[in-house]
Amino acid sequence: MSKELSLQETGALLLAAEKIVLCTHVSPDGDTLGSTLGLARFLLQQGKQVTVFCDDKINDSLGFIPGMELVQRPVAGTKLAADVLVVIDASSFDRIGIVADVVEYKELLNIDHHISNDRFAEYLYLDPKAAAVGEVMVDLFQAMGWSMDKETATCFFTAINTDCGSFRFANTTPKTMRKAADLLECGVEPNFISESLEVRSRKTVELLGKVLPSLTFEAEGRIAYLTITNDLYDADANTDSFVSYPRSIEGVDVAIMFKAVEPAVTRVSMRSSKVDVSQVAVHFGGGGHIRAAGCTIYAPVEEAREQLLAELRKQL
Ligand code: 5GP
Ligand code: MN
Repeated sequence: MSKELSLQETGALLLAAEKIVLCTHVSPDGDTLGSTLGLARFLLQQGKQVTVFCDDKINDSLGFIPGMELVQRPVAGTKLAADVLVVIDASSFDRIGIVADVVEYKELLNIDHHISNDRFAEYLYLDPKAAAVGEVMVDLFQAMGWSMDKETATCFFTAINTDCGSFRFANTTPKTMRKAADLLECGVEPNFISESLEVRSRKTVELLGKVLPSLTFEAEGRIAYLTITNDLYDADANTDSFVSYPRSIEGVDVAIMFKAVEPAVTRVSMRSSKVDVSQVAVHFGGGGHIRAAGCTIYAPVEEAREQLLAELRKQL
């Protein structure tokens, strides 16, 4: 069980540390990377020794985030001592890959906004109402009186923009927009960020063309899903946005993408307009938000699909 901190206590814990390791979750997105790199930039400016770890491949479209050159992939078998390990935008410890084995930390701090957070860290700052950890970061910086330069603000705007679907999703609140407006005051160019995030490799769009024919409906059209079978799977393609296609179809409450990342390992991404998909994800050891959640099912894609749909039908 975690001790829940205030923003002030979170800021004080960071300022008291010298050697700080920040880490993102696996399958990194703009929120985890933007939040991590914005905070890393500030801590470096304070003269801290900062290491940024991400135990996964980073999609090329995120390469524009300021400070991306700081990100290192942890090496198995190595050890790194730290005063504090800060886990950002991850709701459970298994979401950070081998960072958990590599870093020998004195204190563990988790900054998150997932309703499914399992309180794995000794210290936790959790705001499930925040659309993104990027929004939490703006709260933290403002509560502490820490200044944000254009690059830091660009990191946090990218984070917010990613998780609220450019201010279109239900998690967008007046506060989300106010914080984003504060970031614009710091010089952020929103068009640069959205244009950068929109860039797709040819490989990605070619894969989308092969995956769209797999579109299938269930439960009188309330569920729609896409399947990326193992022969189609390409680790270099960015499939993050594929689930938006079934999501946008008239009458669909739950959109799903099943991706066979290995013959017996299936990644599941869910988006919903009504049903609480985080509960379905938690049932399979994953997590997320009410309207966006994911999990990994250790079974071949067809079998994983049957298991997940059976659980989901119970929720409908
Ligand atoms: P996505 O479908 O974009 O991968 O993830 C949607 C949301 O669910 C994100 O907030 C993500 O962090 C969370 N999520 C996705 N997969 C997992 C998982 O395996 N475990 C946990 N705890 N959260 C996940
Ligand atoms: Mn997030």
